[in-house]
Amino acid sequence: MKILSGISVSPGVAIGTAVVLDAEGQRVSARHVEASQVENEIARMRQAFAAAARAARESQRAVADKLGRQISDIFGAHAQLLEGQVLLQKSESLIRQNHWAAEYAVSQVLGDIVQSMARLGPENRFGSRSADLLDIERQVLQHLRGQRREQIRSSRGPLIILATDLSPSETANLDPSQVHGLVTEGGGKASHTAIIAGALGLPAVVGLGPFLEEVTDGSTIIVDGQAGQVIIDPDEETLQRYQSRRDDFRHLEQKWLQLRDVPAVTRDNHRVTLFGNIEFPHEARHCQERGAEGVGLYRTEFLYLGKTEDPTEEEHFEAYMQVIRELGPGRPVVIRTLDLGADKFHMASWKVEPERNPFLGVRSIRLCLRNLALFKTQLRAILRASGHGDVRIMFPMISTLAEIRQCKLVLNEVQEDLHDAGVPFNDRIPVGTMIEVPSAAILADQFAREVDFFSIGTNDLVQYTLAADRTNENLAQLYSPADPAVLRLIRMIVDAAHKHNIEVNICGEMSGDSLYTLLLLGMGLRQLSLTPQHIPEIKTVIRSVTLTEAKRVAEEALRLESARDVLTYLREQNRRLVPEMFG
Ligand code: PEP
Ligand code: MG
Repeated sequence: MKILSGISVSPGVAIGTAVVLDAEGQRVSARHVEASQVENEIARMRQAFAAAARAARESQRAVADKLGRQISDIFGAHAQLLEGQVLLQKSESLIRQNHWAAEYAVSQVLGDIVQSMARLGPENRFGSRSADLLDIERQVLQHLRGQRREQIRSSRGPLIILATDLSPSETANLDPSQVHGLVTEGGGKASHTAIIAGALGLPAVVGLGPFLEEVTDGSTIIVDGQAGQVIIDPDEETLQRYQSRRDDFRHLEQKWLQLRDVPAVTRDNHRVTLFGNIEFPHEARHCQERGAEGVGLYRTEFLYLGKTEDPTEEEHFEAYMQVIRELGPGRPVVIRTLDLGADKFHMASWKVEPERNPFLGVRSIRLCLRNLALFKTQLRAILRASGHGDVRIMFPMISTLAEIRQCKLVLNEVQEDLHDAGVPFNDRIPVGTMIEVPSAAILADQFAREVDFFSIGTNDLVQYTLAADRTNENLAQLYSPADPAVLRLIRMIVDAAHKHNIEVNICGEMSGDSLYTLLLLGMGLRQLSLTPQHIPEIKTVIRSVTLTEAKRVAEEALRLESARDVLTYLREQNRRLVPEMFG
């Protein structure tokens, strides 16, 4: 039995069988299979070579017609290598001798050859062929990955997915009826992969660092999403202990569900509004089930997930209408315009230049303001939906006043177009901005004159304030919403909103972490938007404390000098004031 620690990102306990997934473009981890699985791995490897060979022959034929023999011969050479015995036999003997997974054996065989070729130098005839072998490796691995995903689809579960890293799209495609938990070597608390795991209700631990070599496919794995622990091959006693913890967690969740219709009100009678964060329209139902009073953040970029074409205006509109219908009348929906880029999938249809620093690059609103047609399509759909429910519009990643003014100008143009065309919409639609870049936080009192509401995006605010990548597990200590610099910025934003009498909401992962609820209330926040799963827990904290206590805690926390001190203090105060949860 091995126990590993990482970053807990989605609560609950999951127990299941290990399936290691490799992601495109990432190193293949060294891993083993059970002795009984060796023949199966060899068969998988042979099938993948055969499929890649067939694809190469098809490309050879197609290219011969279009571009002639000289080019099509390249694919012919690939096919010959894939059909020949050398690579197959080398891979087979590595699987047989070492009990390696097919993916690892293939990457080792081809990696060794590529390295020896590269040593010959580019002027050598063979030295210049290493790119072909890399291409062959990529194709075979692609087939092996396809088989893996097929295996997951056809399995009855429960499976635990283990990976170096998973993209938000890969995570979103996991089926929670088969996949019960998620563990990755990389990633951080506010990575979008973690956010999706939360949305799917999958217990997840990320940022473990290299560990896949220690796992055999098919082993039993326990994911403790609360403590951030992963247990490989648990002994019988541990397994039983965790089975009962998993059941306890389910009961607790059931108990929390009973809180659905009670208001989020402090003991001294101050009302707090809890909204849900969603990525997919169907999650509006989760908001309903957990007692959210509306949607405070709809991350619409997920409409682009897995698509090769940009969604049409109708597709945008239909998605928004689904949310409005699911939520029911009178419940607000804050639709955030596209926040694509950085770790959120780039569209195949866009020619986005690779960037050295994508988190500081043409992301989000910067991308929309450079692609006005795309931006206007979405704005039209949002405005049309505003004729059917309480729709509000929000712009992400705003860093200057000029940007927010430009967004409002574009919105005005679209409103005029709709008006001219006689399409109904709410011409007083509330317009808000995310405050998630330090420059916007610093100028919050000026931004407050431009918009109807603020929403504080702590995931990015923490990342940009501390210059610490939100997805980098090695910076998990530094990347902390409890950092005094972040707390001061939040305080400034809230004060500016109050001074100018506009609403202020907080929608980063911090708002779903019960450790911070007391502090956020004390800093003046009365609206939180969070993953619906966490609503009952946060409501429990709100209902257990008074605003007077919360204000005192916030004042003291804001005097402290480090994230560590703040966290220690908050734990202490929470244990004292909400013992039933933190005791
Ligand atoms: C944030 O940055 O806090 C936020 C809510 O937006 P996202 O996580 O989608 O970047
Ligand atoms: Mg953000």
